[in-house]
Amino acid sequence: MSDGAKHSLLSPSSSHRWIECPPSARLTENYQDTRSGYAAEGTQAHSIAESKLRHRLGQSNPLYKCFDIEMDEHTDDYIAFVTEQLEGLTDPKVYVEQKVDCSLWVPECSGTCDALIISDGVLHIIDLKYGRGVKVDAEGNNQLRIYALGALEMFGFLYPIHTVRMSIFQPRLQNCSTWEVTRADIEKWAEEVLKPAAELAWYGNGDYKAGDHCQFCKAKAECRERAKANMALAAYDFIEPVLLETNEIASILGKIDKLVSWASDIKDFALTEALKGVKFDGWKVVEGRSNRKYTDEAAVAEAVKVIGLDPYEHKVLGVTAMTTLLGKKRFEETIGGLIEKPQGKPVLVPEADKRQEINITTAADDFADPIEN
Ligand code: SF4
Repeated sequence: MSDGAKHSLLSPSSSHRWIECPPSARLTENYQDTRSGYAAEGTQAHSIAESKLRHRLGQSNPLYKCFDIEMDEHTDDYIAFVTEQLEGLTDPKVYVEQKVDCSLWVPECSGTCDALIISDGVLHIIDLKYGRGVKVDAEGNNQLRIYALGALEMFGFLYPIHTVRMSIFQPRLQNCSTWEVTRADIEKWAEEVLKPAAELAWYGNGDYKAGDHCQFCKAKAECRERAKANMALAAYDFIEPVLLETNEIASILGKIDKLVSWASDIKDFALTEALKGVKFDGWKVVEGRSNRKYTDEAAVAEAVKVIGLDPYEHKVLGVTAMTTLLGKKRFEETIGGLIEKPQGKPVLVPEADKRQEINITTAADDFADPIEN
């Protein structure tokens, strides 16, 4: 799924940020776009997926050849997921890479739905996300809701739609998430939340508000509101007694990730600026540590062979590299039985985390340091 106008001020993909912090849209509109190689990879995966889906649906389209085994398999999985959604539906209407206009609620806003299915009063939007960075949940996802509104505007008068289902398929993280709401609910959200936030954002009004959404903001390193919020987090009120109570530690734990992420954004930003010539009082740019390396690997190997020694180390590929080499299916057939997943080390996470809590009594034994003999 992609946003129609790549540089539109209020894009659906950034809506989580500008709904939470409306003035961030105008604040960052002139920042440089730093699209990464990952974005190009995502675009390629979407083209392959589109080609395969059109082919599967019998729409006249030549099938792209995909030479990237991993991408080939992941896009196959996506096609299988979409196909599964069609099973048992009455005369489903399927639209691939369907452009939708969302400007009724958000100025100059449009987008493209990867797959859109309409049947039995249900509008189902499926979004392929090829990234492997952050797991994205369909529940409460503003981007999907905005696309759904565009689709309702386009098809709502043609078909009697009463339910909107939204799915995110994120194959590289084995994440597949679906959320369903009534049409009335989504239209209520559009009127009460989306439209007012879009209006504030469009005119650069509203209040700055820091939160998780800051991680996708181009001003995240320099933003004063975010700095204030983080400095407030850091200013812990150390009261008697001398040792912290467990409830105080719990409160600090909840703030650490945000502080670390903010601190790291500030460091990255400051280095970038310093390299442009900006001077920060009391700081200087120096050469970082580096390791020795060969200037010519082939020549090194040759020289070592000449003296009768083997210059190479022979190692079996790691699981990820081996999966890429063999492809998922062949990997399972050939060495699937030789794979084990060791128990992970205990980590402390917020209660909202979806993983099941481990049994502390047995875990303490499992992870205790071996006793020295
Ligand atoms: S960093 Fe956060 S608070 Fe600051 S403008 Fe961006 S979204 Fe708003």
